[in-house]
Amino acid sequence: MTTSPIAININFDSLNENLGFPNGFRDPSYFEIFDNFMLFSEKYNFKYSIYIIGRDLENPEIAARVKDWHQMGHEIGNHSYSHHMSVGGLKPKELEYEIMKAHELIDTTTGQVPRGFICPGWSTSKKVVEILINNKYLYDASLFPSFIMYPSILKNAFNHLGRPDKLKEILSRRDYLFPLYKPLTPFFADKNFNAVPATSKENILVMPLPTLSRMSFAMWHTLIFVFGIEKSKKRLQNYLDKYPYFYYLMHPADLMGSDSVKDAKHTIERMEVDYKTKEAYATEAFELIKQSKRPIVTMEQLALHFIEESKTK
Ligand SMILES: [Zn+2]
Repeated sequence: MTTSPIAININFDSLNENLGFPNGFRDPSYFEIFDNFMLFSEKYNFKYSIYIIGRDLENPEIAARVKDWHQMGHEIGNHSYSHHMSVGGLKPKELEYEIMKAHELIDTTTGQVPRGFICPGWSTSKKVVEILINNKYLYDASLFPSFIMYPSILKNAFNHLGRPDKLKEILSRRDYLFPLYKPLTPFFADKNFNAVPATSKENILVMPLPTLSRMSFAMWHTLIFVFGIEKSKKRLQNYLDKYPYFYYLMHPADLMGSDSVKDAKHTIERMEVDYKTKEAYATEAFELIKQSKRPIVTMEQLALHFIEESKTK
């Protein structure tokens, strides 16, 4: 049993991004759908860590919403500028732009630089880690350390067969070997993405997607729609019991009703599931989290907690 705190994250994969940032589009993800998320934050009394796609913040209405979230105490993290599916596979200059353009937009919007980053599609690379260290990031949540990454990439590629540009993007990643040897639990990394002691000079805390063993599925909310609610509850309980510094990752689509997506061109999955069912699934998950008695904090606080504990070891 572990009693360490946990975080609740939202990778804010907006409809706006999914549809290619159409002009004049009012994205319900940032309005009605986020309000659905807020119901849980109020009921269970916690703050989210929300990873925003920088380009969305160029819309003043969205920027105003995100500023409010920041002022309410939710953490605003960096999910890159345009959500390129293999951001880690980009040329260094392009990659730096993807990270730093979003970094600046978040700073301008909230008045605070983001302290955490997550790659779109977990497509990390050594260069991602180097740029984050150079820009004083506290933590990175981009590592997918389980073998399940391979079928996940295939599935994502399959979903984009009709979009050759996206398909090429998805397959150009640089992290194909990472699930074979990178640590499964949080660790400090240097600019070469090697594990180093907490006391080393320049490092970043890498917080991998929670994964109990390399051969097992990692844990995030969306898998409820794959495994079904009963099996998913058992899996979540297992992670709550055994995985220290756990974070539970969600996406806007997890609380998006089928009626909120009218554009047939989207490639968002699980849109055939109605809102009532999605709400019920989220309630089941939050009830288990509550019963675990593990305190819910932001990822930044979780990272600081881990760093503090590493120093006293
Ligand atoms: Zn994403």
